[in-house]
Amino acid sequence: MSLDELWAGWRSAYIESGDAGSGGDQPGDCVFCRIARAGDASVATGVVWRSDTTMAVLNAYPYASGHLLVMPSRHVGELDDLTPAESYGLWEGTTMAARALRSAYGPDGLNLGANLGRVAGAGVPGHLHMHVLPRWAGDTNFMTTVANVRVIPEALDVSWERLRSHWPAT
Ligand SMILES: [Zn+2]
Repeated sequence: MSLDELWAGWRSAYIESGDAGSGGDQPGDCVFCRIARAGDASVATGVVWRSDTTMAVLNAYPYASGHLLVMPSRHVGELDDLTPAESYGLWEGTTMAARALRSAYGPDGLNLGANLGRVAGAGVPGHLHMHVLPRWAGDTNFMTTVANVRVIPEALDVSWERLRSHWPAT
């Protein structure tokens, strides 16, 4: 599996769900804005952590257990449009997510990445989000084998509890 193929595999599955597909990509109307409005961290929203500017959310359609999306709470599509506080928050949240994933899952490695624009594979291109997910030696081969078969080895509420308990203190 090439890196390009892997990247394409990260195309946010939110867009594939009926709910997100009908929600459009307008400010305030996208799936991430709806999550941002839903309030504090909870199993129901999948929000694991929030700050004044930023939130970390479980991908509802993960490619690996613990697949997190770190994003500004505000609807912003481009890095250039982030405020300094939002830029800091994005990296703060990404760093925390990486630490929590290492502690909770003990992976062999991590992928961090953002797809900017639909052609780059962004499922919700108007709302910038950083993927953070654990990787294990050999898992790309596994993913090739099960191409187009979505495997969710752990229920989302289990991932949520696990990551909450391993999330670094602020
Ligand atoms: Zn949005």
